[in-house]
Amino acid sequence: MCDTLLNCLLINFKLGFSITNGGMLVKLKELTPLEPTYYDRYFFDLFYLILCLIIIMGILLGVVIDTVIDVIKSSKTISLNKNKCSICGIDIINFNSLVEWESHINAEHNIISYVYFIIGLENKSPDHCDDLEKIIKNYINNNDSSFLPKDNTITI
Ligand SMILES: [Zn+2]
Repeated sequence: MCDTLLNCLLINFKLGFSITNGGMLVKLKELTPLEPTYYDRYFFDLFYLILCLIIIMGILLGVVIDTVIDVIKSSKTISLNKNKCSICGIDIINFNSLVEWESHINAEHNIISYVYFIIGLENKSPDHCDDLEKIIKNYINNNDSSFLPKDNTITI
């Protein structure tokens, strides 16, 4: 059955994954420590199991890591229109220059600042809000976004 090392490795690899015939342990004769090839066989079986575990674990970890990376990438993807302000909805063509546009989306209508402001309002007690914050908090509680500037900015 095992006349060369390669042939023996291939047969063992095939029998190791054979589930219908009972696997490699059923096919191979169990050796006792008194037999001369016992330690060769012991280390071969150990090497075979470690090799199979490394290959199977590598495949499983590769699949799991790829899946996790895909989930992370898809969760971080926010579809923002680069040519339209996310706050007021004004298109880039309405601005006189690219500098004016970048100033508008990075300073005047910075979406991150709006998000921080809204989260801050949600965590702020009504007793500590000023009148304007109370009005906006009321809009947020009613799921009304009409307090955001629509098609309106002081830049243009
Ligand atoms: Zn805007």
